Amino acid sequence: MNTEDDHQLQVVGADIDDDRFHDECGVFGVWGHPEASKLAYLGLYALQHRGQESAGIVTSDGKELRTHKGMGLVREVFSESTLKKLKGRAAIGHTRYSTAGPSAHLNAQPFTVQCSKGQLSIAHNGNLTNGWELRRELEASGSIFQATSDTEVIPHLMARSRETTLRHALRESLLRLEGAYSLVLLAQDRLIVARDQRGFRPLSVGKLETPDGKLAYVFASETCAFDLIQAELIDEVQPGEMVIVSNEGISRERFAPELPKAQCVFEHVYFSRPDSRVFGRSVAQSREMLGRILARESPVPADCVIAVPDSGVPAAIGYASESGLPYRLGLIRNHYVGRTFIEPTQTMRDSRVRQKLNPVRDIVEGQRIILVDDSLVRGTTSRKIVRLMREFGAKEIHLRISCPPTISSCYYGVDTPSSSELIAANQTVEEIREFTGADSLAYLSLGGLRKSVESLADDCCYACYTGKYPTDLVGVEILTSQSQK
Ligand code: 5GP
Ligand code: MG
Repeated sequence: MNTEDDHQLQVVGADIDDDRFHDECGVFGVWGHPEASKLAYLGLYALQHRGQESAGIVTSDGKELRTHKGMGLVREVFSESTLKKLKGRAAIGHTRYSTAGPSAHLNAQPFTVQCSKGQLSIAHNGNLTNGWELRRELEASGSIFQATSDTEVIPHLMARSRETTLRHALRESLLRLEGAYSLVLLAQDRLIVARDQRGFRPLSVGKLETPDGKLAYVFASETCAFDLIQAELIDEVQPGEMVIVSNEGISRERFAPELPKAQCVFEHVYFSRPDSRVFGRSVAQSREMLGRILARESPVPADCVIAVPDSGVPAAIGYASESGLPYRLGLIRNHYVGRTFIEPTQTMRDSRVRQKLNPVRDIVEGQRIILVDDSLVRGTTSRKIVRLMREFGAKEIHLRISCPPTISSCYYGVDTPSSSELIAANQTVEEIREFTGADSLAYLSLGGLRKSVESLADDCCYACYTGKYPTDLVGVEILTSQSQK
């Protein structure tokens, strides 16, 4: 199976992908390891698919925080010598993808501040739905912001807190936040992580033995980061939980009462790597089930099943096993598509899709094909791929999407476009079929999606498929229009 995830295409070709706007991130933290900066580097490297615009690491040697961050991929931002300069046994890291722009580097995380609580650095995955509101309030009473990201309100709230301990100041600040946050915070003498009360975004805690025989703790958005550094997963950080690690050891506490969980189901549909466990469940398992249930719900006579690589692969394999049809590699993905490229010629239609995907003529020609993709957002990619398959002689193309129609935007950290650009928000399935040029089109049902994530079903957020948001969204429109500038 092709394990490289679809967002790899963003990694190597951020500017050639389907003009999709992201504000997704990966976070990492380590405490108590002599090579903390190296582990953070490797952790971020494994989380690269969660964000490709900028990367940053901050370390603490017990006295001082040191930062290195920049625009680009993890491997471009850090060198061996920069990692060496990041001294200390504790580190946090962040990888981010958002809109490009002249001030984008200002938004690179972690953010470090010096305040009455000492030096603090923070990295955040998720979107605060009241971030803009809080920012206006803080600015009105004199706070000066450096960046346009919502994350910056957190250190500002902490700096203002009358609470004297870091833990209490953080707790007080977190209680003012609404929306999604999985965050890692580094002070000189401790690492604190926290996850919002509904657990929108993932965050796991793990451990590993250090070369000097001690125990180090690690935190990451996805467990694939633990695999790379050979750490062992302990548990998820629970929604509403704060974990503090210092020289005194590890302590876990609930900072807020339990709320109904709203863990992002799109992590299982598309966003996380299949080799991760997310929300306590294997992503690979969910994806294969998505495909199996899709096959049960929407069978069609055909000769073979072909995936849109890479993200469509696990669902296509599931579809094939369930339907008894052969799974065939009929679309090949070029993994080396560069950041900058030369547009072949003006007249070459769909050259962007062609650069990354090419049909295998001998597999496609004359065949009735079930083409499986994980999601259909704007519909433009699917339309190009269907056209391409036809050009290579496909007889019939039956498009199968392993999630329900995406009808509403996400305000919790996955940047689906605004609903005017979401094809399913504006057109019927039949109209979308016509737009893509497929012979038939079927999406997975919401019930099918719920079944695929099994025991997680009642603990997920499905807002992008239902329009039912688990939080109040007052002020969100202003926040998104501001943060997209
Ligand atoms: P569309 O048909 O909307 O143009 O594109 C659908 C394709 O985009 C699918 O192959 C799906 O894997 C991919 N996709 C879905 N969500 C995202 C996302 O957030 N970022 C990127 N780069 N691709 C996405
Ligand atoms: Mg894809």
